[in-house]
Amino acid sequence: MAGTKKKKSALRKFASARKSASPGSQRDAARGTAAGKGIDPGRVRAILKGLDEAYPAATCALRHGNAFQLLISTILSAQCTDERVNIVTATLFPKYPNAKAFAYANPAELEQDIRPTGFFRNKTKSIMGASKKIVEEFHGEVPQTMEQLLTLPGVARKTANVVLGTAFGIASGVVVDTHVMRLTGRLDLSKNTDPKKIEQDLMQIIPRDRWILFSHQLIWHGRRVCQARKPKCLECNLERICYSKDKTV
Ligand code: SF4
Repeated sequence: MAGTKKKKSALRKFASARKSASPGSQRDAARGTAAGKGIDPGRVRAILKGLDEAYPAATCALRHGNAFQLLISTILSAQCTDERVNIVTATLFPKYPNAKAFAYANPAELEQDIRPTGFFRNKTKSIMGASKKIVEEFHGEVPQTMEQLLTLPGVARKTANVVLGTAFGIASGVVVDTHVMRLTGRLDLSKNTDPKKIEQDLMQIIPRDRWILFSHQLIWHGRRVCQARKPKCLECNLERICYSKDKTV
């Protein structure tokens, strides 16, 4: 009898807790993304403020002279550091000065030219395919819409966002690379692990006029402070609002 009473009281408590849950948290639970705590607007503003203070001038670390070179560098940067890409492109860009030069290059020679960046066979196919399409279908100019960029071989949303944001100042989305994936998890801005879903989550909680800078700032923070293996939480100005299980303080 006592057991049944206890059970009924627990059920009443559970029902009342569900009733009092805010519409926001119910929405969050329904879409399976960040908990209300993580994406609370005040907390998101505090994260943006902290990133602004730490990295007011964050920008793309890939050296480039124009949108086309940035596209090639971004393709080369897959599974490779920006530093290594910059070393390779320092001799690559003078040798192949435009889209036409890449489009009709000798594939075996290009493979060797970009070999230090890794995955050089696939990257050669992507670079030559994208360059050919740019020459033959876009009059030699890098297209300026997400839809058109996604038609280029080897170009997915991450690369398209880098080119549109950095080369053209067009905020079409948020760059989600390995750093952004890790940091959005640690900062509880998204519960998702799929880059496309993380991007959708970030586009909902970050103001559009911050998308370009926010991507660069998060990447800089991931490289300098919130590193994968041992985040330097003692040096992190977001430490006060971070409750990641990876924290080292
Ligand atoms: S406190 Fe640590 S885990 Fe949290 S964002 Fe800063 S460096 Fe990353």
